[in-house]
Amino acid sequence: MKANLIDGKALAAAVKKDAAEQVAALQAQGITPCLAVVLVGEDPASQVYVRGKINDCAQCGIQSRSVRLPETTTQAELLAQVQKLAQDPAVHGILVQLPLPPQIDEKAIIEAIPPEKDVDGFSPVNVGRMQIGEPCYLPCTPAGCIRMIESTGTQMAGKHAVVIGRSNIVGKPAAMLLLAKNATVTICHSKTENLQELCASADILVAAVGRAGFVTGEMVKRGAVVIDVGINRGADGKLHGDVDFEAAAEKASWITPVPGGVGPMTRAMLMLNTVEAARRAAGV
Ligand code: NDP
Repeated sequence: MKANLIDGKALAAAVKKDAAEQVAALQAQGITPCLAVVLVGEDPASQVYVRGKINDCAQCGIQSRSVRLPETTTQAELLAQVQKLAQDPAVHGILVQLPLPPQIDEKAIIEAIPPEKDVDGFSPVNVGRMQIGEPCYLPCTPAGCIRMIESTGTQMAGKHAVVIGRSNIVGKPAAMLLLAKNATVTICHSKTENLQELCASADILVAAVGRAGFVTGEMVKRGAVVIDVGINRGADGKLHGDVDFEAAAEKASWITPVPGGVGPMTRAMLMLNTVEAARRAAGV
């Protein structure tokens, strides 16, 4: 391996330390940030994510409120829960763990979270504000990716950044944030022609595809910064990224591992958004 490792765990620890310091300062003013985490059903991966987020809150001194609802919860019941949390002044951030069971319209639930408590940054108002460069809550995964690139000292301005994936929660916002850093951005997706060539010309390559080992060594430009967002559980039961790590690490200058890369950073960014939400609610 020739590339330097972007250590997501270490970076996340530093972000959480920063969040904890901010929480301590807020507590001195009588404000305790609080995140409500809503989980519907028993999806094992979602349960792991929710547990992780609640642990992170504890580490940062953020209060957490865990709302567990059965798999059979109706749209109206979930909406009522979200509205209750929306009206509760002690709750600063609301996170509804996705995916939701099929009887529930995800879009309607996300829209029911008031923008000022939308610490995931998924609501249309936050997405729009990000698009036009207004203050907002940035979606945690893409914001974490940007922090990771910044940690390498790489200048994004003028560089060719290629994002593989155009989902609303990762690909599109990652591309927007790279654009805001003045990178020249190409977004690739399942209909893209010449995907290999486009990726091989990327100074910064962000993979958010959801397919283990999708990015091969040939798709990585020598010296590129490679951010692997993918989390894919293999037949071996282990987590794999979207990038063939060994091959890519031979050519990249910097690369994120999976696990221990974007995942921990995503969670850490959620803590920062929650602290920010508490600060804004209190007007301090
Ligand atoms: P989605 O399934 O919503 O999006 C995947 C994207 O990849 C789509 O835009 C799709 O294109 C594109 N794609 C799929 N196949 C190909 C292909 N053969 N060639 C080119 N593009 C392709 O996934 P998410 O964005 O939600 O997540 C992506 C990955 O990131 C997943 O592994 C997920 O688990 C992981 N993830 C990790 C997080 C973290 O904290 N580390 C947080 C969130 C997600 P099209 O639009 O044309 O269908």
